[in-house]
Amino acid sequence: HGSYNQKIDYVFKIVLIGDSAVGKSQLLARFSRDEFNVDSKATIGVEFQTKTLDIDHKTVKAQVWDTAGQERYRAVTSAYYRGALGALLVYDITKRESFDHMARWLSELREHAGDSIVVMLIGNKSDLGSLRAVSTEDAKEFAQSQNVFFMETSALEATNVEPAFVSVLTEIYRIVS
Ligand code: GDP
Ligand code: MG
Repeated sequence: HGSYNQKIDYVFKIVLIGDSAVGKSQLLARFSRDEFNVDSKATIGVEFQTKTLDIDHKTVKAQVWDTAGQERYRAVTSAYYRGALGALLVYDITKRESFDHMARWLSELREHAGDSIVVMLIGNKSDLGSLRAVSTEDAKEFAQSQNVFFMETSALEATNVEPAFVSVLTEIYRIVS
């Protein structure tokens, strides 16, 4: 099996942030195990998942942290952000409020993790287009104004999940290598 005795060149910590129920845990399940759990309970216990992948012929271990139900404002501790080189800032395209909270999450993130952290704004649940409450244009505009990357994803349909994580990891790699 390829993951045994594998020389790891880099370990990059990435944090998932955003309101409760936007799909953070499902995005992580999709990325790390290619799974989706239809009735996922609020996250319990596990602090992070890892996935090892190749970037520019280097072996990069992504260590992705998921909030354990700490999504209330300022409840996420500084230990969660410590050492993070990247962040996925996740909202639900069907919940306007979750998008309106992105500015707040971003400022909290930058307060803790610094300004050089690589950030990707994620509009999740793109499979629910008929219930859309946040236009792609609005999100793009916000992302540009904040100088962060942007993608819409579906953890359910596995759309853009891997590309979102890989983009963040690749950008981190370009910065640190
Ligand atoms: P978290 O609180 O941000 O970790 O959100 P979860 O990952 O627990 O997901 C919250 C709810 O949204 C669950 O019922 C998931 O099944 C559902 N969900 C997550 N991602 C998607 C998605 O891409 N599409 C759809 N339709 N539902 C999703
Ligand atoms: Mg969760």
